[in-house]
Amino acid sequence: MEGLELLASLVRIASVNPPGDGEGEVADLLREPLDAAGLDTEVLVSPQGRPSLIARLDGPTDRPPLVLLSHSDVVPVEEDRWTHDPFGGEVHDGQLWGRGSLDMKSVAVLHTQAAVALATGGATPEREVLVVLVADEEAGGAEGAEWLVDHHPVRVGFRDTAPPPEVLGEGGFGLAGVLDRPLMPIVVGEKSPLWLRASATGDAGHGSLPPADQAIAGLVRFITAVSGPRPARLHPVMRDQFAALAGVATGTQRRAFQLLAGPAGAAAVRVLAPRIRATSAVLGHLLADTVTPTQVRAGYKHNVVPGSAEVTFDARLLPDTDVDALLSWLSDVGERHGVTVAAEQRWSSPVSPRGDLFDLLTDVSAALPDGPLPVASLTPGVTDLRFFRRRGATAYGWVPLVLTPEQVATFHGADERVPVEQFERASTAMTDAVHRAATRPGT
Ligand SMILES: [Zn+2]
Repeated sequence: MEGLELLASLVRIASVNPPGDGEGEVADLLREPLDAAGLDTEVLVSPQGRPSLIARLDGPTDRPPLVLLSHSDVVPVEEDRWTHDPFGGEVHDGQLWGRGSLDMKSVAVLHTQAAVALATGGATPEREVLVVLVADEEAGGAEGAEWLVDHHPVRVGFRDTAPPPEVLGEGGFGLAGVLDRPLMPIVVGEKSPLWLRASATGDAGHGSLPPADQAIAGLVRFITAVSGPRPARLHPVMRDQFAALAGVATGTQRRAFQLLAGPAGAAAVRVLAPRIRATSAVLGHLLADTVTPTQVRAGYKHNVVPGSAEVTFDARLLPDTDVDALLSWLSDVGERHGVTVAAEQRWSSPVSPRGDLFDLLTDVSAALPDGPLPVASLTPGVTDLRFFRRRGATAYGWVPLVLTPEQVATFHGADERVPVEQFERASTAMTDAVHRAATRPGT
């Protein structure tokens, strides 16, 4: 089956998570070409019954395996907002429409094509190559990547006989139409969620005789005091990115990037961050931690002043944030408003070093049509790569599809679609990258 046809068939399987029904069907369909090319394939099923596909192409087991990571599930759709059937897999105007056409069934197909080409092309891999298609990414990965890395580490490339694997996954799509030259981010790390709960207590009473100490009023003052971006600062990866951008931008943009990459960058970013956020939310939110209220609960009757109120926050932190310092700042502010703050869950994952696989991706990116500028980047969202990074893998978010901001906006939104021409270019680039990564000697 040709790549585009395979992608269309995968899109037609509505593997919406929750509940993730259809993940097994996606795995089975992708398994066929991998089996046919001679890879060893298996489907591992989590305790909750969620299937993940692993396909292995043999190679020396004393080198870090190369893992190509994607996921089989998709997010739900609001069908009436779509121009074409979200599960139709139809091609209109040179684009393949449907949920998962970008996130991330297209990438699963690119990985599969690359592995099949390697297996059938007569090359000798210098390392094992694993195609891993996991369940449950869109609901946090506990039944997919996290479960595999924790319970079947050897199957996903963590061997005692070799250094931890090198992993390619999602997070970095090419971006056209923002600067004169398209950008091709290679994502080396991501912001981490910190989930908080804050509660206020006060005097309960009647609405006609309001008490002086009110839980809701205190909580609202606290929310106002802490919500929003924290002071902007430059993570070293972002400083390098601005230096690279300064090389290709023109006019005032170029001067701004030069300023940010230069010795006054720390001061400049605080001045420029609001403007950058207004222009590009993704870039803007990579310049600061954010603290965002997501749920508020208080009260039960119109004329009763409740004695307690609470709020949850989804804070997103840069990889080098001092979490304890942030928590102590939140507690101090809370104390002033009669609010107690508790961290409920925190995750973190290291930033991957830039080694020779990074250099190889840089080469392949720059050789794409229109010569995109490869830049190291972070991503504001979390991906399954964090589970691999946490266990010591070097992991890069790299997908050589070059999209416009309008197309990027369809991720998790309506009218998700992939331009056929881009998909085909990406296929060539992914196949090239995987071939070179798998056959290069050394580490
Ligand atoms: Zn995804």
